[in-house]
Amino acid sequence: MATEAERRAGELVVDLGAIVANWHELCERHQSGPVAGVVKADGYGLGAGAVAKALAAASCWNFFVAQLSEGIALRKELSHGPMIAVLSGFPPGADGGAGLTPVINTPQDLAAHRAAGTRGAILHLDTGMERLGLNARELAGAGSLSDLDLRFVMTHLACADEPGHPLNAEQARRFHAMAEAAPGVPRSFANSSGLFLGERFESDLARPGAALYGINPTPGQPNPMRCVLRLLVPVLQIRQVPAGATVGYGATWVAKRDSRIATIAAGYADGYLRALSGRGFALAAGRTVQLVGRVSMDLITLDVTDVPELAVGDRVELIGPEQTPDAVAALAGTIGYEVLTALGTRYHRRYITA
Ligand SMILES: *Cc1c(COP(=O)(O)O)cnc(C)c1O
Repeated sequence: MATEAERRAGELVVDLGAIVANWHELCERHQSGPVAGVVKADGYGLGAGAVAKALAAASCWNFFVAQLSEGIALRKELSHGPMIAVLSGFPPGADGGAGLTPVINTPQDLAAHRAAGTRGAILHLDTGMERLGLNARELAGAGSLSDLDLRFVMTHLACADEPGHPLNAEQARRFHAMAEAAPGVPRSFANSSGLFLGERFESDLARPGAALYGINPTPGQPNPMRCVLRLLVPVLQIRQVPAGATVGYGATWVAKRDSRIATIAAGYADGYLRALSGRGFALAAGRTVQLVGRVSMDLITLDVTDVPELAVGDRVELIGPEQTPDAVAALAGTIGYEVLTALGTRYHRRYITA
């Protein structure tokens, strides 16, 4: 039985079965080596622990988080078997026995881990992102790497979602050339979109995040991934609004007809982006209804004039298979990644394995 508090808050239903199915689909595409699960930013907002446990149960043995704190928290959820690599790196010993794998991003990191004799680190090579990782000059300056016990060398693609971008091939060329400095060390290359770029982007370990969560890795083409979530939010109130009345902050929406307006328990504090003001849609009793007025912190308003059966307490769907994170993002002028990672902490997260 849901508590009253749960009935009045939004519910994020996360389909772990669909996430695992997406992972299997990506494994099919990557014959050259295993496929990791990137679960940074709390599993792209869906819950890193739940996602990683489901993937580990399906034999995914490699996980990536961004920050040390994420790695320490995730290790508490997983056994000591799977690799948990921290993309931003950490100083030797800072994982406090959690058995995390540091990613070495700078000559200073390299020197520190070399001096400490760290075993099983990942060396990040920068091949065109100019963000993290050693560039060719820094790699040359590091001298022989044979004293380092490296688990992988990796690089990250800047333009993988644009298959025609010349930087993709250039990064592949640079990566394989630079990786020669660490002979015999396994290589980790493609992110989600990189898995769809062809053979030159295959490696010993792919690192998809977004595609696991149903974001389209091939923008502009049909989405090969399954939608993994539904965001269901209850109607708090329904009111009759006469023609000519305005709704919400700034009085930006004026009723053209006598209207029925439903107020819904989600707002920009829950990651329902304010840029969706006057643009968003919801699915109410199976029908698409328009968001009217501005998105406020805790509430949004919908024109449900044409859905007379909708009642207080019913739930409307803000994100789901009918309205994917990518579609919501397009309306808000952003990307599905931001829509997912913005999802707030007030939703009750319910995990299913349908
Ligand atoms: C976030 C990230 C990934 C995953 O990227 P997606 O586009 O979500 O698949 C892989 N590698 C690195 C270094 C990252 O920062």
